[in-house]
Amino acid sequence: MGAEALAQIAAEIGGCTRCPLHAGRGRTVPGEGNPLSDVLLVGEGPGAREDATGRPFVGPAGQLLDELLRSIGWAREDVFIANVVKCRPPGNRDPEPDEIATCSRYLDRQEEALDPVVIVTLGRHSLRRYLPDARIGQLHGALRRSGGRFIFPMYHPAAALHQSSLRETLFTDMRGLPAALLAAREALEAERVTSVPQRNPEPAPVEPATSADEAEQLPLF
Ligand code: SF4
Repeated sequence: MGAEALAQIAAEIGGCTRCPLHAGRGRTVPGEGNPLSDVLLVGEGPGAREDATGRPFVGPAGQLLDELLRSIGWAREDVFIANVVKCRPPGNRDPEPDEIATCSRYLDRQEEALDPVVIVTLGRHSLRRYLPDARIGQLHGALRRSGGRFIFPMYHPAAALHQSSLRETLFTDMRGLPAALLAAREALEAERVTSVPQRNPEPAPVEPATSADEAEQLPLF
């Protein structure tokens, strides 16, 4: 079901001319990954390598993202990776607010199809989609709630390519992601239990996370 919906969305993106970014693109970059994953990573927009291949995060920033995922025992095949805009902004400039707004219909539908437990925002444009007034310097590495979603803000990996001091910050934040996923799952389960009318009013006990190591063993889907 999720995979079919994601394929349909990708096909629509492939023919999209709704915003000016279509004029300069090589290939559209709808996103890719495991349609059953509980974790959606959202970056900003495709760069040159992504524009040439149609795949997200395959340039230098993508190599760092792969390294970050490996550091917690995950791989890109375990998560789903997308961007706020699906076509490359000219010269790698930031996407404009109206381009982000126009393209958001596709990310909205990708979220609906995936129904992720945690959305990892990579960079400030992605963060602002969920928490418009947030500053990444204050929120990175901590689980937040926005609407019905759990958000885990991180710096964009490309930022660490330009500012080496952010590299360690990225790895530190990534180490917190498995525990954040566990906490989000527990919170959603507790909400589900309390929202279902009970014959017995006592909710089932939920085992708390005891360590990040334990959380890292969690299945991702
Ligand atoms: S960036 Fe999004 S809205 Fe703009 S042309 Fe590409 S797919 Fe369409």
